[in-house]
Amino acid sequence: MYLKLTEISEDGQNVDQLLKRSWLTEILKGAGSVEFKVVSDQSVAIRVQRMGLDILVNSNFKLEFDSNCAACLTKFRLQVPVVFSTTLRPKPKQADMLPQDLELAAEDLVEQFYEGDNIDLTKILREQIILALPMYPRCKEDCRGLCSACGANLNERECGCNRGEIDPRWAALKTVTKN
Ligand SMILES: [Zn+2]
Ligand SMILES: [Zn+2]
Repeated sequence: MYLKLTEISEDGQNVDQLLKRSWLTEILKGAGSVEFKVVSDQSVAIRVQRMGLDILVNSNFKLEFDSNCAACLTKFRLQVPVVFSTTLRPKPKQADMLPQDLELAAEDLVEQFYEGDNIDLTKILREQIILALPMYPRCKEDCRGLCSACGANLNERECGCNRGEIDPRWAALKTVTKN
């Protein structure tokens, strides 16, 4: 997934990318606290635009994975919006840089560089997809999760357990503060 600098127009253009199932599976390995299962290849569009030597890269697409809800543990189809906007600059040669420039470059994590006249979209996509993954995916916004007492899925039924009781450790703390 390389683009040649000279192929990118100043008016901007859409680039279609096919993200292979195997490639996605590889980058998702070990990312996040839950498993994201890739069910198919996914085609996405990225917008690139050249401004002099700077390359603007924009995306606004959705990926689909199978995952388990962090609250109720049910398997569901997760939609992950991948929305980003980043600017790539030509990588400065180290010899041209002053020591304070090097320090600044290290601090500025947002800054992205490309080398030569090849723009590597793979690297950007990999980073942005990992950043877009939710830490605790939920099957729906108002998922009620599992009963802390009996483990029933509260989206399916109300089990009738009394979950309103204060944790004994907190009850003890309350007594202390009263005295
Ligand atoms: Zn859920
Ligand atoms: Zn219960």
